[in-house]
Amino acid sequence: MEDLEGIRENSSWSGVHSWHFHQLQQFITYKAERAGIRVEKVDAYHTSQRCSACGSMGNRDGDHFLCSECGRGRHADLNASENIVQREGEPCTG
Ligand SMILES: [Zn+2]
Repeated sequence: MEDLEGIRENSSWSGVHSWHFHQLQQFITYKAERAGIRVEKVDAYHTSQRCSACGSMGNRDGDHFLCSECGRGRHADLNASENIVQREGEPCTG
């Protein structure tokens, strides 16, 4: 991020406006994930199929999720949101 500050200070860089837009996009995505809102870059299929408690693949029936491994029953969207929140702690490998 410190390197990007240097780019922003360079007024001759024509892409400065797109940088601000990109920054805004990142910010919105970050805030959405913090709130547990599903965003496009997240693999929605797997987050809705995986148990947020043990990480195993469970069964989704409409709005209800049931883990086949630990037997945890949960609202499917809530379970998916918890999976997304947990992803924040994973190291970013680019
Ligand atoms: Zn489970």
